[in-house]
Amino acid sequence: MTSSALLYGAAAASANILGAAAIAWRASWSVRALDALLSFAAGFLIAVSVVDLFPQSIIVAGPIAPAIVLLSYVLVHLTQHTFARHFHFGEETHEVNASVSASALVGLLLHTFFDGVAIASGFAVSPSLGFLVFMAILLHKLPEGLAISSLFLAAGAGRRAALGAATALGVATMAGVLLTEYLTGLRDMGLAIAAGVTLYVAASNLVPEFQSKLGWRMPVSFFAGCALYFAARMVVLP
Ligand SMILES: [Zn+2]
Ligand SMILES: [Zn+2]
Repeated sequence: MTSSALLYGAAAASANILGAAAIAWRASWSVRALDALLSFAAGFLIAVSVVDLFPQSIIVAGPIAPAIVLLSYVLVHLTQHTFARHFHFGEETHEVNASVSASALVGLLLHTFFDGVAIASGFAVSPSLGFLVFMAILLHKLPEGLAISSLFLAAGAGRRAALGAATALGVATMAGVLLTEYLTGLRDMGLAIAAGVTLYVAASNLVPEFQSKLGWRMPVSFFAGCALYFAARMVVLP
């Protein structure tokens, strides 16, 4: 058991709760800053998936890895068509009911479980890869917590339930970390699964949030996310 996986997993999990607290107590955060964070996170996540998780998963799991990457991508799509049909990152702006927020929570619990799998599989390879994966995951954790709690509030739930939902996401993240540490099978396939799930979150969840927004601010922070990933890995990787 690597204690760094646990420690960084816990830090990422608490960002879920922090994001929820920000919206539950109406902290003054700017929509523009949140948008910039989302597009930056998307660039960083796509980069970690394509540049490091994907190739490293072939080294760890062998020739089966690309199929696992694709399968993971497709399965996330499937869960979002069955459980979490209404979910988007950022503050909830639609009229929703309690069954919508409950189903989004189920879908996101699965997703956050794999956030944890990704962090632990990264640390299983090396502390530097683990740290890079942690950074990538952390960037979208705050908007993720904010999104689920605002969805709960929009569905008429109280602050306590909204915070509880985000806390459940944090717990699922930790469950992903712990199970990856204990189950050898999950550890071997973890990187491939993480590559597929991370690519989905970035390219199919986050990018559509800002794709239709005009102007250069979004693409610039998106590209900056990719570029800074390379800068970060130059510093971190030996
Ligand atoms: Zn909505
Ligand atoms: Zn996530």
